[in-house]
Amino acid sequence: MRRGRRRQFGVLPRTPCKIARAFMTLPDYAIEAKGLVKTYPASKTMAEKKALKGIDLAIPRGSMFGLLGPNGAGKSTFINILAGLCAKTAGEVSIWGTNIDQHPRAARAAIGVVAQELAADVFFTPRESLETQAGLYGVPKAERRTMEILGALGLGDKADAYVRALSGGMKRRLMVAKALVHQPPVLILDEPTAGVDVELRRQLWAYVRELNARGVTIVLTTHYLEEAQELCDTIAIVNHGQVVACEPTRQLLGRLDTKAVVITPQVPLTVVPDLNGFDGKLRPDGRLAITFKTQAANVEAVLSAVRAAGVGIKDLSTEDPDLEDVFLALTYNDPNAQDPTRERA
Ligand code: ADP
Repeated sequence: MRRGRRRQFGVLPRTPCKIARAFMTLPDYAIEAKGLVKTYPASKTMAEKKALKGIDLAIPRGSMFGLLGPNGAGKSTFINILAGLCAKTAGEVSIWGTNIDQHPRAARAAIGVVAQELAADVFFTPRESLETQAGLYGVPKAERRTMEILGALGLGDKADAYVRALSGGMKRRLMVAKALVHQPPVLILDEPTAGVDVELRRQLWAYVRELNARGVTIVLTTHYLEEAQELCDTIAIVNHGQVVACEPTRQLLGRLDTKAVVITPQVPLTVVPDLNGFDGKLRPDGRLAITFKTQAANVEAVLSAVRAAGVGIKDLSTEDPDLEDVFLALTYNDPNAQDPTRERA
């Protein structure tokens, strides 16, 4: 499925390089996986492992897509298949409308991957690093945009410094810069902010948002649920090699119909009073959190039960479920997962 509309990508909207020009016909989906299976064969020390058990995923073009899942869910395996670093066992994958089996080079050229590990070429300068990467992708010298990309990532004044002299944050930005040399329409970031300080995280996200606004599809794996909630318009949750949810973020959050009323009692409580069937829990700070199903009750009914129990109300607030509740509910089958009365950070 292709649309005729044209648009430019990458850090340089006006003068896309040869590779970027090849991707100017727009597919509906930046990435499409159908029945994707990966089985790591048994080795002397390890049993066979089914890492992906039939993944169906359609990542809309232009989206900011979050891939979430606990450790071992299969996220890196999925990304490594896209990047051509790992061979799939079965299924079909297209990147930017190009099948990875039929046209592996073209498919790979459509994505830039920022890997989890810091893999910096310590003996190169950032300029040399980007030039080498551009060479690997066959970007002609005249079309290279090394200094523009370094500048966009705040590394312009470090272009000729040795990479080993850069801070961890700068090395991380250099990895993003390298992933962008061929101006791919899809950028994949595998846990890019793990162990990164708050300021760098803010900078990195600002830049990623800017790229997305220019039309680059962003696929992000992260353990920071709040980050996915804040950044991603669509989120897929993967667990044990299967997609357990793939929905617009808001819809995913709307799935939970529990809410909590949190009350500060006028007189401190030592036990939870009888609340006419509502489930109440005392928090360590002395507040009483009462959960209710929004389809079955409302705040007024909860407050009536509190008053009937003789509890004076000094202050009150309500809490909605967040992505962590959804995540827990879908991945761990935790009976308390939908309980927004649990302590929050
Ligand atoms: P995630 O990125 O979500 O943490 P991975 O894709 O790294 O998950 O791993 C999925 C499963 O596949 C895990 O059980 C992991 O131990 C296993 N696995 C990953 N890579 C290999 C490998 N090269 N050989 C054997 N098993 C692997």
